[in-house]
Amino acid sequence: MTAFDDSGLAPALLQAIADLGFETPTPVQAKVIPAFLKGTRDMVALAQTGTGKTAAYGLPLLHLTVLANAVPQGLILCPTRELCLQIAKDLNSFAKHMRGLKVLAVYGGAPIDTQLRALHRGVHIIVATPGRLNDVLRRKRADLTAVKWVILDEADEMLNMGFQEDLEAILGAAPDTARTLLFSATMPRAVAAMAGKYMDDPEEILVGHRNSGSDTVRHECYVVHAKDRYPALKRIIDCQPSLYGIVFCRTRAETQEVAAHLMSDGYNADALHGDLTQVQRDRVMHAFRTRKLQLLVATDVAARGLDVNDLTHVINYNLPDDADLYTHRSGRTGRAGKEGISIVIANIREEYRLRSLESVVRKRFTHKPVPSAREVCQSQLATVLEKIKGLKVDESRLGPYLPAIDAALASMSREELARRLVAQEFNRFLEYYSDAPDLNVRTQERPARFERRDGDGRSPRPVNRDGEGRPPRPEFRDGGGRSDGPVTRLVVNLGRRNALTPPTLMSLINRATRGPMLRIGRIEIGEDTSLFEVCGADARDLIQTMNHTHYENRQVRVMPQGRFYDGHGPRDAGGRPNQVRPPFRGARLGGAVQH
Ligand code: AMP
Repeated sequence: MTAFDDSGLAPALLQAIADLGFETPTPVQAKVIPAFLKGTRDMVALAQTGTGKTAAYGLPLLHLTVLANAVPQGLILCPTRELCLQIAKDLNSFAKHMRGLKVLAVYGGAPIDTQLRALHRGVHIIVATPGRLNDVLRRKRADLTAVKWVILDEADEMLNMGFQEDLEAILGAAPDTARTLLFSATMPRAVAAMAGKYMDDPEEILVGHRNSGSDTVRHECYVVHAKDRYPALKRIIDCQPSLYGIVFCRTRAETQEVAAHLMSDGYNADALHGDLTQVQRDRVMHAFRTRKLQLLVATDVAARGLDVNDLTHVINYNLPDDADLYTHRSGRTGRAGKEGISIVIANIREEYRLRSLESVVRKRFTHKPVPSAREVCQSQLATVLEKIKGLKVDESRLGPYLPAIDAALASMSREELARRLVAQEFNRFLEYYSDAPDLNVRTQERPARFERRDGDGRSPRPVNRDGEGRPPRPEFRDGGGRSDGPVTRLVVNLGRRNALTPPTLMSLINRATRGPMLRIGRIEIGEDTSLFEVCGADARDLIQTMNHTHYENRQVRVMPQGRFYDGHGPRDAGGRPNQVRPPFRGARLGGAVQH
């Protein structure tokens, strides 16, 4: 008896669910199963990987499939060969008590003839990657006329991977009467456009927030100088001996380099990237899935479709360009209800990017100090001791050797023996970390805002980034005369002509930002454009977020002064450039903006 019993699914499926040990429907299953079984509308479901979505659509699809009719009735499209095989495997395990049901995986990188022959013999459900299925369709070797359900799994990934044309051809070949269900972890514009074009008034199913990260993932950040990225990675790994995770890199070369370093430093790691042959890929993935590898160093593309549920960590060795990719990376941990940690190793220049990631995953990063050499050694020592305590000694096999062991070690005290035993494993760490420096970026090297967030309460000392001999750039100063960093002047494409006033500009800034307070300096409203001052550390972020907003139906455009309209700043009513007065002195409008 499980909570699935009232779902209306056939007894054969309920039996399979019970065999698999599923007791309670996951949130996406609780919403999708009844809607799929009882409803008739198309469906768009926003759900992360690892939330149980294969069963969410797979179980009702199997329930509704007519076994007597061995023609394709259900079509599932997904981005990678690995995911394709995984979905087919899952469907077969759900259908293990449904005799005669045929599921076929159709994917690239494998001989097409075998797949064509299997199609010819008759199947009920096709699980396919778009490129290969389109190839099959062009050869006129698949008949989709009886397809009643089309499921797009990981639609965002399919579009990211350039399958748009293949998808359109396939969706065009499926009957208009087919019901379409789209699953996606994020909802970029391209996915929404596809839903708009091929789906009819779809029902929206939201599990968690739009484009948000998984609830069970914690996000942590370590800030280091770029040159310390690799030693910081090592410390993070060394401090968490039970870590089992993926280290994400941006390029194949970086993936290879990091994996090679880790391997030569004695870690159980390997690389997964696009230069590997399919056989090499399969070997690495298998080793990782079966935990023979502790760490997989991978590019985003190569890690797609890798389905491992119990990763403890995802480490962003370098941040991806696209915030949605960060959602995908972090969603590889914290799956199936388990807790996971997504770590970002950032250098000081990248710190501002964390803010846009925070708004995408709707979670705050916890800023953590890179563990000191002593902390790493303590953590390793605890592991070595646990290992020794948990070691099973097979007396019967060791028996014949005991006299020799006793004789050789008789002169040593218990303490001496214990020390040597520990040293055998521990020396490597003691040696490596003997003169290891502090890798944390010192307070005065970091932008003000992030220091405040770390909670040390101190403002950084002013830094003259313009170099010696030149006057320091203007800075915000608080009541005690301490600096908040240099000022940046921004120009916005709004002015009196758009009824912009200082308060409306402030509220525009407020709406575009969230999180810690921003300080706004001088505001000058011009006729068509206006100027305002912000703390330099906030400027890039603010530009990014404000440029996604609208004011009075007008797309807001913000830029640093000097890069706007060929270098012209705000203009007055007569078209003359506004005078920009000397640096901000403290007469700020409204003072700090509190969010
Ligand atoms: P998926 O998102 O479909 O890749 O599923 C993620 C993992 O969760 C798979 O290993 C499933 O076997 C497992 N799973 C799916 N539904 C349930 C459930 N109701 N109870 C427990 N585990 C589940």
